[in-house]
Amino acid sequence: MTKINILSPLLADMIAAGEVVERPASVIKELAENSFDAGAKKVSIEFRNGGATYIRITDDGCGMSPEDAGIAFMRHATSKLHDEKGLEAIGTMGFRGEALAAISAVSRIELITREKGAAEGVKVTVQAGDIIDMTPCGCPEGTSITVRDLFFNTPARLKFLKSDRSEATACTAAALRCALGRPEVSVKCIKDGEEVFFTPGDGRADSAVYSLLGRDIANSMLPCNGELDGVEVNGFVSSPALSRGNRSMQYFYCNGRFIKSALLQSAVEQAYKNTLLTGRYPACALFIALKTSAVDVNVHPAKTEVRFSDEKKVFDVVYQTVKASLDGEAQPLELKISESTQRAVSSPRPDFFRSMPAQSYRESLKPAPPPVSPRREPVSPSLRPIVNAPLTKPRFSPGNVEKTVESVEKIADLKYRVIGECLNTYILVETGDELLLIDKHAAHERMIFDRLKAQGGQIMSQTVLTPVIIKPTAEDAELLEQNTALLNDLGFEIEPYGAADYAIRALPDDMEVSEAKAAVEEICDKLRRGDKLSADSARDEVLHTVACKAAIKAGRRHDIRELERIADAVCAGEVKYCPHGRPVSVRLSKGELDKFFSRIV
Ligand code: ADP
Ligand code: MG
Repeated sequence: MTKINILSPLLADMIAAGEVVERPASVIKELAENSFDAGAKKVSIEFRNGGATYIRITDDGCGMSPEDAGIAFMRHATSKLHDEKGLEAIGTMGFRGEALAAISAVSRIELITREKGAAEGVKVTVQAGDIIDMTPCGCPEGTSITVRDLFFNTPARLKFLKSDRSEATACTAAALRCALGRPEVSVKCIKDGEEVFFTPGDGRADSAVYSLLGRDIANSMLPCNGELDGVEVNGFVSSPALSRGNRSMQYFYCNGRFIKSALLQSAVEQAYKNTLLTGRYPACALFIALKTSAVDVNVHPAKTEVRFSDEKKVFDVVYQTVKASLDGEAQPLELKISESTQRAVSSPRPDFFRSMPAQSYRESLKPAPPPVSPRREPVSPSLRPIVNAPLTKPRFSPGNVEKTVESVEKIADLKYRVIGECLNTYILVETGDELLLIDKHAAHERMIFDRLKAQGGQIMSQTVLTPVIIKPTAEDAELLEQNTALLNDLGFEIEPYGAADYAIRALPDDMEVSEAKAAVEEICDKLRRGDKLSADSARDEVLHTVACKAAIKAGRRHDIRELERIADAVCAGEVKYCPHGRPVSVRLSKGELDKFFSRIV
């Protein structure tokens, strides 16, 4: 008796549907991609009830002839691939001829399509994979596909759908990902009768980012462009100051296709190294363009994974491009006096006295104490030239990586003056018609960190006169033993001392002896938490600690010359973020202040 059965085409399609059509959002992705492949300039994506009962995608693309419309729902029916050679260079979103077959196997579909130039169109009704009606009809050129009752014949799959709300979120996200990849196509997304987004389709990536990710994100993004050996990278990355708690705002595209890529993710994050706190992630919309033969998109039926033939090259160009863009970020953030603050301060408060507690009301009637004459710091009277970071965004191409770094232009006519220090924390600098506030600790920490990093393995060490004795826990002692080489490399000499104690005999040159104990404790803490850190990252973590402990501290007053050195580095654009990713300076413009004081409106 035979046991082997050949599955019916419908059953085969239903099984395949599992890979292609996981949820309503996958239908949106597949149909929108078909519209893009059809050369549409306008695509409308509508869905209701999370997409489970109704999805309609309409486009003004090339449309289908009645013959093609009749076979489009068959498995392996595609107009995009003709022979094996074609598989080596896929230039379209689709090519497997699976999506319509898979979707129609598990839903009720109505397809209305008219080929460009044809006198009339055709309407095809398909249910669970079978064409049940096909009639000529009048309709605009292009295609409209309505998918109803997804998974109506596969209850097991239907059960796995989440709430309408979360399916709807996934549908919008899928539509957004498609739209962001095609700035030249105007995409409209309508959820339960209401427009969620609309892109103008003007071909500009920045308009698409603005329409889809919102004004705040768009304004915080830095453009980046680079090219290396036929691999082009364009797009936007977020300023380190505006990082996010997760990776949900990272969008990668390869030849217009949204892809998930651990490789690209790590190239981007590597470029932010030492500018972001652990657990913070950049946002980005990066478009990679390369020869179709240099990338394999046939990795998974959903086509969101790709394989690059030269991964290292792609990694390098993305890394270098993003890095150059971050290095070129010239201006510190501007401090804005919020409108609510302005209103609160400038509007008269008639109930002021009534709302004041009796005690402070009496206080307010007392004569003001004589002004304390401020201790004057020597201020630097001379104006210094600002050496600014390049104002034009550097463009990365082979050979000019070095140049980009060197091409820091000196803009001699911009001057600045260190006014002094305030609140024992911030250095105040006047530059042109702006006031710069610099967090002296954060800036100094960064300077030391960069210097130590540049020194490579040769960190200067100082032998301490009286060794500092510490009592690490057994676990920390083990860490110190395991990491002796790393610690020695970074200027520490720590040896067992007696039964359980350790003696710190030498320290990095920059560090004060009084900081030694706390520094070693912090380093142990990091090494303990970071047992999966690569050697390089462990080294950076230790350097962070050394830099932090060696940097001048907030809360203490410092010599003006020291502050000036820091201001020089910040004004030269050498220092923008502390090693943890906090900004080191902020601008307050005269305009903002004038507005605040109603000097200008
Ligand atoms: P694939 O996209 O991999 O070719 P699909 O099953 O998604 O497979 O589509 C099958 C075929 O139907 C396509 O190759 C194309 O010829 C045609 N088609 C599907 N959607 C459209 C559309 N919106 N406009 C024009 N033709 C379409
Ligand atoms: Mg397709």
